[in-house]
Amino acid sequence: MLLTITNTHFPATDLGYLLHKNPARVQSVELSAGNAHIFYPEATPERCTVALLLDIDPVGLVRNNRGPAGDNFALEQYVNDRPYVASSFMSVALSKAFSTAMNGICKDRPELVEQPLPLEVTLSVLPARGGEAYLRRLFEPLGYQVQAEGYPLDEQFPEWGQSRYFTVTLRHRVRLRQLLTHLYVLIPVLDNDKHYWIGEHEVEKLLAKGAGWLQTHPEREGITRRYLKNLSALTRQAFASLEEGEPEDEAVEVPEEIRAKRQSLHLQRLETAFEALKTSGAKRVVDLGCGEGKLLRLLLRDRQFETILGMDVSARSLEMARENLKLDRLPEREGSRIGLIQGSLMYRDKRLAGFDAAAVVEVIEHLEPDRLAAFEKVVFGHARPGTVVITTPNVEYNQQYERLTAGTFRHSDHRFEWTRAEFSAWGEKVAAGHGYSVQFQPLGPEEPAVGAPSQMAVFTLTR
Ligand code: SAH
Repeated sequence: MLLTITNTHFPATDLGYLLHKNPARVQSVELSAGNAHIFYPEATPERCTVALLLDIDPVGLVRNNRGPAGDNFALEQYVNDRPYVASSFMSVALSKAFSTAMNGICKDRPELVEQPLPLEVTLSVLPARGGEAYLRRLFEPLGYQVQAEGYPLDEQFPEWGQSRYFTVTLRHRVRLRQLLTHLYVLIPVLDNDKHYWIGEHEVEKLLAKGAGWLQTHPEREGITRRYLKNLSALTRQAFASLEEGEPEDEAVEVPEEIRAKRQSLHLQRLETAFEALKTSGAKRVVDLGCGEGKLLRLLLRDRQFETILGMDVSARSLEMARENLKLDRLPEREGSRIGLIQGSLMYRDKRLAGFDAAAVVEVIEHLEPDRLAAFEKVVFGHARPGTVVITTPNVEYNQQYERLTAGTFRHSDHRFEWTRAEFSAWGEKVAAGHGYSVQFQPLGPEEPAVGAPSQMAVFTLTR
């Protein structure tokens, strides 16, 4: 399998500086199951091409297979197409051979890094599940002109149809470092058969390499899912980081005085939400976006609540909740009342069914406005608890905070903040659409003109 990158911007041999690879020399890097060779088939001032050739050892490949035990059908190991096609080995080779360039570093000619160049990439042979259409959907939104030549399954029997293998040419005026990260992420996405075992660090790698383009790519969910090969917990975690940014606690630096005010406000908010859950008479409650488990702690202290579940998208928050609630040290009788699960409010989740009440405290403002509809479906359409308690900041109050001038959000990760009117309009619409009634309540000390710092809606199922 072969990848070539051609630059035609005069002097084209600048490519050698950008890649930190001298056009006059052949170089090799070692991979877990073979080698990659880097050389320049042509290097003139008008046109310069670098080639990355993978030389995979099929026996070493099988020996080094670190997949989950029993996951591979034994025969497949010997007849698979890994050595012959550009799979995620190409990604690994790219990152090994061109890591400095991928990170946007050019020692000798730093000014070249930010310069878009007329580049042409050829990949032979690229497996593309989803065919040419999917290939285009991945590269065209990034600005590439895509040319794909497909291969029949068997030339003697054209009626067998097309294989999933293509020779692909991509053309674009783009920075080299961007082109490399696009290839790094999207080649394994097309292949969807990553050869190495996927762990937590894969998510980080994807987010780092996808920075600046994956977030706005129309296929970002498919890319993430396929890149991570449908490992649901990891996929959700990566989606959430793409969509929600970092969790609340690690955001902006805030002066002590405001921090103290916020903390006492947050406590009030939690207590009011707690009261609403209590008066609803609920026995089974779920805290959606439970964070570090502050509300869970209040709930756990009250025996009215027989089953308590905390859900959050962030593994780190859940770990802190586990720690704060001392879950590992609770006596059996207490411990059996409470559980923590990782999940995203963007996806329908059977584990959320059957609860009397749900709390969603200071969470919705972390969701992208255009994903709120998904949240509404998940909570009000599918989970359908008898009571739903939602709190969110009141943007009108922001002028009361010294550091915040009107028009600035309270928190760097908030995607929106609503006025009281906006929150009620949304709440009324959601209630009417799903058979709930709704009541609103200010949270915290009220100012005559701007209201209270936060606001709460209590939804009650009516049908
Ligand atoms: N309810 C908690 C935490 C509020 S901070 C409290 O009041 O203390 C917002 C929380 O929402 C974070 O823990 C964040 O990880 C979580 N969150 C953000 N987007 C989410 C999503 N799509 N699904 C589930 N949780 C999410």
